[in-house]
Amino acid sequence: MLRTKQIQRPELVLVVDDHEINRDALGVILESDYEVIFAKNGEEALELMRKHQKELSIVLLDLMMPVMNGYEVLTAVKNDPELKDLPIIVLTADKDAELQALEMGAADFITKPFDLPGIILARVGRIIELSEGRQLISAAENDPLTMLYSKNFFYEYANRLFLYHRDMHLDAIVLNIDKFHSVNALHGRDFGDHVLRALGDEINLFLRETQGIASRFEADRFGIYCLHREDYPRLLSRFQERLNALSSDVNLHIRMGVNVWQEEVTPVLMFDRAQAACNMIRGDFQNSLKIYNDEMLNKELLNQRLLNDLRAAVEEGQFVVYYQPKYNIQNDVPTLSSAEALVRWKHPELGMISPGDFVPLFESNGLISVVDNYVWNETARQIVRWRDKYGFTLPVSVNLSRSDVFDPSLIDRLVSIVEDNKLEYRQLKLEVTESSYTDNALQVLDVIRRLREKGFEIEMDDFGSGYSSLNMLSDMPIDVLKMDMKFIRNLENNDTDRRLVSLILDIAKYLNVAVVAEGVETRSQLNILRFGGCDLVQGYYFSRPLPPEEFEKLLVLELQKRSKGREE
Ligand code: C2E
Ligand code: MG
Repeated sequence: MLRTKQIQRPELVLVVDDHEINRDALGVILESDYEVIFAKNGEEALELMRKHQKELSIVLLDLMMPVMNGYEVLTAVKNDPELKDLPIIVLTADKDAELQALEMGAADFITKPFDLPGIILARVGRIIELSEGRQLISAAENDPLTMLYSKNFFYEYANRLFLYHRDMHLDAIVLNIDKFHSVNALHGRDFGDHVLRALGDEINLFLRETQGIASRFEADRFGIYCLHREDYPRLLSRFQERLNALSSDVNLHIRMGVNVWQEEVTPVLMFDRAQAACNMIRGDFQNSLKIYNDEMLNKELLNQRLLNDLRAAVEEGQFVVYYQPKYNIQNDVPTLSSAEALVRWKHPELGMISPGDFVPLFESNGLISVVDNYVWNETARQIVRWRDKYGFTLPVSVNLSRSDVFDPSLIDRLVSIVEDNKLEYRQLKLEVTESSYTDNALQVLDVIRRLREKGFEIEMDDFGSGYSSLNMLSDMPIDVLKMDMKFIRNLENNDTDRRLVSLILDIAKYLNVAVVAEGVETRSQLNILRFGGCDLVQGYYFSRPLPPEEFEKLLVLELQKRSKGREE
């Protein structure tokens, strides 16, 4: 709140000290620049502050005084909404007292015996200037709805606490309300605001009981940076109960993510981690509290490491492509019909890393195309090597990431790989996961259609894990459905899965596309699929993904079988 001051009059300073000699000394120094009033104890000081609230620019406050000492004055001022922004410089001879006063909200201190007049004037002038600036910005400093700090200011203060109060062990807490946008949509913005204000109030109440600061980062995301504590379940219930009390009709569910204080971890990182913890329990109504733990930390550190190492990995050729065969099982003897290229990372220190550990990470960072480009090129070169060596081309499929599908250069990139290697388009098949289709169906359909027009064959990967409707499916330009592994796993003893598999086989027949069953590990799974009419099978039953020199043996075996077949 801005305190209006009369213009042109010199700024008013209150000097509070029980010793007349000190009051006089300060009076002499300050009177050249300011109008000065005096109090000789705390009680008098508070009285004058209230009386001159509007004109007063600053208070110089002695700590050791009879009747009411300086600490008590500070506490009273900071708890008084009308006075709390009034800057106070404490006068003290005691180093420990200084720190305590600063923690209690004093703006600065002047040591006794007094410094040179010039220094005192400079300090007083600087604090007045700062506090005026502060008041101007305090409007932007607070979120008007909850009166908590805005995000920028929150981090500004959090960083200061982190840098200058290292002895305070501060935890980072993030609060989110589940599906808050639908609370707004269903019950109106006013009700939404009411909810946010209530939570803000409760946070403010909480902060009166402990040391700390809080912010509404945005919408329904709140952050609290406060002294370390152990009773998080209780704190969460406290906030939850406050929301429960707002309405008996609306279900408001709050989630809390916490990152417990750790030395040298900056506030920004602490809140990122608290948010990551909070995100982990999104939609999980059994768990509303998640504390960031070592496992999450290790995962984060590993991810960071992998991101850092990516460039070197590409330059040094650490990515290798393995091949897993797909067999046609409708012939009397299964025949090798194609393969899937699956990437692995041979990390010089971490050993072999499987794509499940880095593909999703690089996908979320938009870096996966670097890896995919390499895999596609290498796969094309491998097809050519085998063709040249054995006079036989085995089609191989490569995986496309979700982000590849939205890359405008995708078609050109793939076309030039095929042309540069003098392949036919159908020899490099493309696997696109079902969930890519559902993201932005129209755009994906357009890209896929154009790829098919070129002559690429498209396999829909992980079919059954996404949510394509039958309606959508009939419009989809695809050549092959790859049934998700989860249907195969319990095929032998789960009736539902068996029925689902037979349903998928029917759908494929209706769409006139072939089906690949992935993750086939046993003979009985294979038999069920064969009798159900499934065309192609990929899985450990036949072979794990193999490095090219191992895969080549399967190729040779297949060629031998075929030439034998021709002889007979
Ligand atoms: P996906 O495309 O669904 O690939 C099939 C995964 O199933 C492979 O895991 C394969 O090793 C595994 N698998 C095959 N048969 C069996 C089996 O009988 N039992 C079991 N339990 N698993 C089997 P992998 O190689 O770890 O790859 C995981 C995923 O990573 C792939 O799933 C694919 O989505 C992605 N990926 C792999 N290579 C690439 C790539 O070059 N680019 C992109 N964007 N993604 C890739
Ligand atoms: Mg695949």
